[in-house]
Amino acid sequence: MATLGIDLGGTKIALGVLDKDRLVYSARAATPQSGAEDVFATMIALAREALDRAGVLVRAVGVGTPGPIDFATGTVRFAPNIPHFQDVPLGPRLEEALGLPVVLENDANAAALAEHHLGAARGAASSLFVTVSTGIGGGLVVGGRVWHGAFGQTGELGHVTVLPGGPVCGCGNRGCLEAVASGRALARDASYAYAEAVTTPQLFERWRARDPKALELVGGAAGYLGQALADAQKLFDPEVIVLGGGVVHGGGGEAFLAEVRRAFAEHARGWRIAALRRAELGERAGVVGAALAAQGAGERSS
Ligand SMILES: [Zn+2]
Repeated sequence: MATLGIDLGGTKIALGVLDKDRLVYSARAATPQSGAEDVFATMIALAREALDRAGVLVRAVGVGTPGPIDFATGTVRFAPNIPHFQDVPLGPRLEEALGLPVVLENDANAAALAEHHLGAARGAASSLFVTVSTGIGGGLVVGGRVWHGAFGQTGELGHVTVLPGGPVCGCGNRGCLEAVASGRALARDASYAYAEAVTTPQLFERWRARDPKALELVGGAAGYLGQALADAQKLFDPEVIVLGGGVVHGGGGEAFLAEVRRAFAEHARGWRIAALRRAELGERAGVVGAALAAQGAGERSS
């Protein structure tokens, strides 16, 4: 069954039609910064064009969005990086415009679903996906489906406390993983350590050149990540853990992953631990995961 996946991001809207586990159509446009109505108009125009041109019968639509979702009503409560996007009834509006069932999914959960079925965790019975970019997010897939939890908060590994009393996080708590190991946290700590503005890519450049300060900062972040993964292993016991995001891909690569793996094993001594793998789908994970999320909806309606 073919489904349409839409990945709504702060800077771009990407979409694709997934048919028999293959993307048969892709398109993208810049995200309008002028309010929810313009975002709707762009999404609907892109989606209609996709339905016309994909060459397959699309049965349902999935949308991956940043920020919290009210799953019962198909409402996006807010999207952190999209201006004026609050309490938006995205699901019902798209259903009305496109005449197809629409499923919303958190963007990190969508990526988790994509990596589980078609990426680095394919074949596993359960997997945890963790993305380390500007922030840190994640999603848990069990039995082929995203495990949302009672309040839609499962997999928010970025906000587990790893350093009590540590730096203040965007969520208001102190010492969250995101506050000490995200791209934003690394750039903040590097700028302080070098007493000049240092971006995350610049820090990783110095890390590859084995600059002592960079080794300490990046090593620290890898340590906190490993610590959080060890906790996640004991809580959820996933078969595979997939790491994605800019810090893993553009920044540290396999060498960084090896440091995280070392810390992970150290904090889980005596326990069996998941295979830790690098995400395979990259930017496509959002679109593919949204399309996979829609498959359940299409089955129900057909
Ligand atoms: Zn937090």
